[in-house]
Amino acid sequence: MREPILLTPGPLTTALATKAAMLTDWGSWDSRFNELTRSVCHDLLTIANGRHSHACIPLQGSGTYAVEAAIANLVPRTGKLLVLVNGAYGKRMAQIAQYLDRDYSVYETADDTPPSADTLAMLLQDDPTISHVGLIHCETSTGILNPLADIAAVVHATGRKLIVDAMSSFGALPIDVAALHIDALIASSNKCLEGVPGMGFVIANQDSLLASRGNSHSLALDLLAQYEYMQATGQWRFTPPTHVVAALRVALDQYLAEGGQSARLARYAANATLLQQRLGEAGLLLFLPTELQAPIILTFHAPAHLGYQFKAFYEAVREQGFVLYPGKLTSQETFRVGCIGAIDSAEIEQACHTITTTIRQLGWTQ
Ligand SMILES: *Cc1c(COP(=O)(O)O)cnc(C)c1O
Repeated sequence: MREPILLTPGPLTTALATKAAMLTDWGSWDSRFNELTRSVCHDLLTIANGRHSHACIPLQGSGTYAVEAAIANLVPRTGKLLVLVNGAYGKRMAQIAQYLDRDYSVYETADDTPPSADTLAMLLQDDPTISHVGLIHCETSTGILNPLADIAAVVHATGRKLIVDAMSSFGALPIDVAALHIDALIASSNKCLEGVPGMGFVIANQDSLLASRGNSHSLALDLLAQYEYMQATGQWRFTPPTHVVAALRVALDQYLAEGGQSARLARYAANATLLQQRLGEAGLLLFLPTELQAPIILTFHAPAHLGYQFKAFYEAVREQGFVLYPGKLTSQETFRVGCIGAIDSAEIEQACHTITTTIRQLGWTQ
């Protein structure tokens, strides 16, 4: 039997070549491994258009470690972070600020409502102590796309700094850190770059990074220390996730061969459209209006049948080779289907067939 296809937003289904890249053991002192790290960081900076203004600092751990490191390093202890929240990852960013004992406030909108740039401008005018704004680009809890360019314009015009959690969008949606004056962008190996989990990275404005000395409360999450050590030695400060870096190198090779960001976006957008169309034909409707839905992960209303249970649905679909994701809304019964990873229309067609026949077999159709 083949491995199940992960319709989840990272870990996700990776290409065979990416998995195969993990069959080599690397010494952390080996100059060939250091060259892998350097070339990965170079490519990540290029994708973000940050080569002349920003630095890429890779960090061991999952994406949240990198978000926490970015806030700990770039928001000074005397600063204040305004977090724009419309889902679980926005809430997590606010919680990080609380843990780090940074002053923060929250501008929260409903799960299906992007933050308004005008409201943000008012909030920034009302509170001059706010030094930084935190935004989740694609809020993975629903898949909603937040208006990065509009928010970035307001943050820049009011002299504040923007920290963007682009975990689930980086590599697929276009993001220009220089043009948008993004102070720090955070993403990880295992989402739209189609690597395996184990490292995050922060693309930080060089001046802000160099000015961050003394901000970090944490030794392991000190980005400036990681950066300076890497600049001096080519090595990671502590044991590097060698196999993850090697897999990401191969995943980036495939990314570039596919045609880079626009090609990746085109494949994901085609996946999303097909998913919406096929499940729509079976009466399964999107939670978000189409124009707010990013082509990363789609939230669908669960079948409106009293007997519906996600667990039974998940197990039956899993049995047939596809891994779904539960919904993350408390108010409504939903499920999520990711459209990122090394999959295209063939896998999406099969997945939709499996989902719709399973719902019929379980008797959840009206
Ligand atoms: C995946 C993700 C993260 C990081 O989650 P980890 O489980 O720590 O990898 C953060 N923000 C967003 C928007 C994400 O999609």
